Formats: sequence, structure tokens, C-alpha cells
Amino acid sequence: MPQQSLLDGFEIGIGTWAWGDKRFWGYGRSYGDADLRGAFDAAIASGVRLFDTAEAYGFGRSERLIGRFMAETGERVAIATKFFPYPWRVARSQLPRALRRSLARLGVAQVALYQMHWPVPPRTVAAWMDPLARAVTEGLVQEVGVSNYSAAQMRTAYDRLAARGVRLASNQIEYSLLKRDVEWNGVLDACRDLKVKLIAYSPLAMGMLSGKYTPDAPPPGLRGLRYRRPLLSTLKPLVGLLDDIGRSHGGKTRNQIALNWLICKGALPIPGAKSAAHAYDNAGAAGWRLTAADVAALDEASLRFTRR
Ligand code: NAP
Repeated sequence: MPQQSLLDGFEIGIGTWAWGDKRFWGYGRSYGDADLRGAFDAAIASGVRLFDTAEAYGFGRSERLIGRFMAETGERVAIATKFFPYPWRVARSQLPRALRRSLARLGVAQVALYQMHWPVPPRTVAAWMDPLARAVTEGLVQEVGVSNYSAAQMRTAYDRLAARGVRLASNQIEYSLLKRDVEWNGVLDACRDLKVKLIAYSPLAMGMLSGKYTPDAPPPGLRGLRYRRPLLSTLKPLVGLLDDIGRSHGGKTRNQIALNWLICKGALPIPGAKSAAHAYDNAGAAGWRLTAADVAALDEASLRFTRR
């Protein structure tokens, strides 16, 4: 089994759930394709070349937009996409079929990383690893990963892939200063133990760590159901600490501090960006490190938001 992963070459990526998603993120209302092309260009210009997407995002529109932007610019990026094991997808042959449709939307012959989006029944975790491993041996994907898998599910996936000579490269999980479950539920330890990269999704807590949402200005749409006024009213001290630490590092922004905290934990954050400004800001989280004292202060300040 290969010991190295191509993910070792990335400190940060960019998330594209919002690229084409109307229902949750409001694509087509507050932002559109020109903004997203701006985000794509800004990511490339700042050296961010790992793009996370999924067949499910915008019902394929996210993948199509990435494919379009690559064709328009001539830039090739490393793409991490995902297969969703919808309950009606019972045949293993549905994975290679879905993968070929993703490749067609993206306009590429191979993606860097193909991930199982969720461990959804009825097929077992182990059963899906067989077609996933085959996608590597057939050259359609460079590496494979999982997402939203518990430590035990990860180990099952790891073993089944290893029996086929394929390495489990990553587990993509929600991880941010507002959600640190992976630190207590064994997932982060399992990742370190197995040398599997923890890809941190929603690393800015869906924008809450930017500090722009307050009890008087809550997030729009469905995000407002998850991040309600009582939580928003307690964020100020944490956002203030992010600002203080940012100043002590020569003017880094809150978002950069929140993302660098994840990098310091050994995770690979994939902050979502809807504009060039977001992508430039978030890219500035890479290439430097917080001090151990900064990390400890953020650990302490974020404890109240996250279950142990
Ligand atoms: P996130 O990265 O925590 O937050 C993204 C949102 O925060 C943006 O859409 C933007 O929304 C705001 N934002 C981003 N950068 C900003 C900046 N510099 N300044 C101010 N606001 C900024 O949340 P996410 O998009 O949920 O997660 C990131 C990626 O993880 C997704 O795009 C997707 O690729 C992946 N993901 C995977 C799963 C999974 O099940 N595997 C689940 C969720 C996400 P506003 O401007 O509207 O506030």
C-alpha cells in the first residue's frame, strides 16, 4: 500500500457546496456564477488547488461549474468529489456509474479523491469499499476517502480497502471551533493512528466564526435554524479572541485564525467560498502557524460550544 497521500501536499482546500445550491445557500439570489468564477480564480491565484465537491451539491451543478471554470481558464485543479449511497442505491455497480457521471460533469478522466459521502444503509460500510477500491485500480480516481464515518466505521473501511491494496486517504467530518466532537469521539485519534487525513468541513461553522452574524443579524435561510439567537449572542468573546490573536500575528483575520487552529490540529480545512474576497481571505490561513499558547487559548474559549 502506498504510504504517502497526495493530500499531504495540501494545507487547505476550498469547499463548493454553495456552488449551485439554491435551497440551503441561496445560489442565484445573493450570489451567482460570476462570483463563483471570482472565487475559483482567487483560489488559484493564492495557491489553493484542492476543490471539494459532490455529485449531490446543486444536483450536479457544483461539479459542472468546476468543470466549466477549468475549461475556461485552462487550469487543472485537484478535485475531491463524493458518491452518495442513497438508500435506493443497493447495487455496487451504481458507484462506478455515478463516478462516470461525475467525471463527465467535471470534464476530466480522473479525480484526485473519491469519497463516500455518508455511511447510509442498507449496504454496509465494507460492501461499498469494494467498488471504491476498484475505482482506484481502474485509474478513475487517485485516492479514496470517506465522510461522516465514526472511528469504528473508519477502521472497517480502512481494513477492507487495505485487503485490496488500497489506502484510505481521508475522513471528511464537521470540525470547527464550534464543533469539536472529533476530539472526544475517537475520530481524530483514529485518523492519527491510521495516518488518514481528517478533512474538516464547515470549518468556519458555516460563516458564524466570521463574526458577521449576530442576534440582530442572524444568518439567512436554513442556516438560521441551526445557529439561533441564543448561540449567536454568546459568540462575541470567541470572535474577540480570534481578533486579538490575529493582531498578534501581524493582522491575520478571524477566519484565518479559526482555520489555522484546525491546521494546527492536523486537519485539512476546506472553507466554503462564494466570492473572490472569501477565497483570498481563507487562503491566508495557510503557510504559517499559531503558537501553542494561541491554540490552548482557543481550545479553552471554544469549550462552551462543544460537547465533551
Ligand atoms: P464553512 O466553510 O464553515 O462556511 C462557508 C460559508 O461561510 C460561506 O459560504 C460564506 O457564507 C461564509 N464565508 C466563507 N468564507 C468567509 C470569509 N472569509 N469571510 C466571511 N464569510 C465567509 O461551511 P461549509 O460551506 O458548510 O463547509 C465547507 C465545505 O465543506 C463545503 O463547501 C463542502 O465542500 C464541505 N462539506 C461537506 C459535508 C459532508 O457531509 N461531507 C457537509 C458540509 C460541508 P455567507 O457569506 O453566506 O455567510
